Amino acid sequence: MADKQPAIFLQGVERHYRQGEATLDILQGAELAVWPGQSVALMAPSGTGKSTLLHVAGLLEHADAGEVFINGTATAGLPDTERTRIRRNQIGFIYQFHHLLPEFSALENVMLPQMICGLSRREASKRADELLSYLGLKERLTHRPAELSGGEQQRVAIARAAANAPSILLADEPTGNLDPNTADHVFSTLKQLVQASGLAAIVATHNADLAARMDRRVTLRDGAVVELP
Ligand code: ADP
Ligand code: MG
Repeated sequence: MADKQPAIFLQGVERHYRQGEATLDILQGAELAVWPGQSVALMAPSGTGKSTLLHVAGLLEHADAGEVFINGTATAGLPDTERTRIRRNQIGFIYQFHHLLPEFSALENVMLPQMICGLSRREASKRADELLSYLGLKERLTHRPAELSGGEQQRVAIARAAANAPSILLADEPTGNLDPNTADHVFSTLKQLVQASGLAAIVATHNADLAARMDRRVTLRDGAVVELP
């Protein structure tokens, strides 16, 4: 079935930061549409605005101008409570560092976002178990983050991002802190999940090998999104 609208659509997005007397023009008319099931690598040098773009796309920051459509819904003018609701239900985030809660097990870390969204303990636990098992962590459910390897921690973070069955996954250099072999494995896991769940994914990365395995590659030039071959 053809999807009629992008999962995420940035239209004419502007983002400027004031720095003393100067203004930094980070995003200037940025346009990007990502369709369900599609993965996009965002590759650009440090300081060009990758994290800014992901924060605006994920409704963590407001654009100064332009619009962010999430599954067709214009979000710029929505109240914060509604933006938060959309973020919780439709968007999953993965960062360079896992940001798991240290005093909770892998299972509990994946249960929490679901319980915040109103699922019962039993339902949340069942889905967390399924997700972690799918990502190869069946034997690690009761481990705390400190008892997991870097790659395992990041796979738990992927499971947590997917916990509420979002339609959009935003990842900010998710393998940037891992050795090449582990990065490769974690990336494969991420890609598998994106394909199986029909997620739209934007992944900021400096790793050209990993980017080559995604559906599209884009960069930022003078604040605009430019498609790479
Ligand atoms: P990247 O993720 O590509 O490394 P960022 O989006 O983090 O780039 O940052 C882009 C530019 O915007 C950088 O020069 C950074 O210093 C600046 N910047 C980011 N956030 C802020 C902020 N809250 N206030 C001022 N400047 C910022
Ligand atoms: Mg960044």
